[in-house]
Amino acid sequence: GKVVIPHSKHSIANNDVSRNAIKVIERLQQADFEAYLVGGGVRDLLLDGHPKDFDVATNATPEQVRKLFRNSRIIGRRFRIVHVRYGREVIEVTTFRSHHQEGSGKSQESHQSDEGMLLRDNVYGDLQSDAERRDFTINALYYDPVSRDILDYTRGVNDIDARMLRIIGDPATRFKEDPVRMLRAVRFAAKLGFEIEPKTAAPIADLASMLQNIPAARLWDESMKLFMSGYSTAIFHQMVERDLFKYLFPGSASHIANPQTMAFFENAMLNTDKRIRADKRVTPAFIFAVLLWPAVVTRQDELMAEGSSTALQAAHQAQQQVLQAQLNVISIPKRFTSVMREIWDLQAALPRRNGRRAYRTLEQQRFRAAYDFLLLREQSGEDHQGLGAWWTEFQFADEEKREQLIAALP
Ligand code: ATP
Ligand code: MG
Repeated sequence: GKVVIPHSKHSIANNDVSRNAIKVIERLQQADFEAYLVGGGVRDLLLDGHPKDFDVATNATPEQVRKLFRNSRIIGRRFRIVHVRYGREVIEVTTFRSHHQEGSGKSQESHQSDEGMLLRDNVYGDLQSDAERRDFTINALYYDPVSRDILDYTRGVNDIDARMLRIIGDPATRFKEDPVRMLRAVRFAAKLGFEIEPKTAAPIADLASMLQNIPAARLWDESMKLFMSGYSTAIFHQMVERDLFKYLFPGSASHIANPQTMAFFENAMLNTDKRIRADKRVTPAFIFAVLLWPAVVTRQDELMAEGSSTALQAAHQAQQQVLQAQLNVISIPKRFTSVMREIWDLQAALPRRNGRRAYRTLEQQRFRAAYDFLLLREQSGEDHQGLGAWWTEFQFADEEKREQLIAALP
């Protein structure tokens, strides 16, 4: 049933809502449509957070929305929405969705796979059906900035108070419809510090393999949210615990049985989280280079043992093979795979410091990332006889000191 929480009973202030989102909602309501703020924006406002974006839900169709806003365009196919742009801010406007008819098969609006996965989700409905087809109760709250009421169809406010992440409806069915919801579950739980409600959590490990059905492009988008959120350490632990990690990184999963590798991954995520929270620059290439490194090293060793190639050839072949396999799962854009290769190549260059070599390595564009990568390897228990410390000194030394450092090399 529907619960209305009036302004006097909740903490959301319109001052904390994007002016543009309110503008969009007012314009839709003036045109006699229903329109609400929904999703992460409402959730984060109730949690005293600062929403990073504001989504609007309405009973206007994408075409009707499009006509009301000059600065708008319709995007998406599997799931059509309208983007209304104000300078750098984009307000996402979504038309109320509805349930799919059982066995509705394939149509313009709706398309479901044999395993129950929604391949197209454009069946429009009313507010209540829209709430029921959202993923988690805490993401299904609607706020009307005009009346200042919150509408709650799924007891989401109770779950926010209880700090509980609960999927709406039958957990297995909802995860089968869209296996990415399993990744969203661990992401929200880790980020918000919520417990995943036991019935919600129960089917995840069993259904984790369904991630194999998700297009690699979508898993790239989702990976960004998993690893670049500032909460990657907690998310990573949850993914490992719930058996999700091995479907994202099939070539890396076996390596985490090694405590040194596990420490390497964890330290990389801790560093990344710290940098993100300090508003420092991070590149996803670094995390991906870390997560695939043990597989690259192992493969390189195998190729060397076969005896037919030099170390450099084996390294490049191993990189190629490991990346190829990973790209079938997550389509890492080329601009990042090229950085990953540079970081990996520099691992072999860093120990070679004689003559002018150290100077040339220092001038490489990816030196800093490669040096951080080396420190991380050492920090995780690899012994390189003080190589990281040598580079720390060399970087910050003057000309004379640098010459001394090189002269002192064995
Ligand atoms: P954040 O943007 O902070 O990551 P969010 O909750 O806003 O979190 P979005 O991906 O922006 O997440 O989605 C907006 C809303 O759309 C969600 O709050 C949820 O109600 C709904 N939603 C998004 N993805 C799904 C999905 N896969 N299944 C069902 N509902 C979804
Ligand atoms: Mg959002």
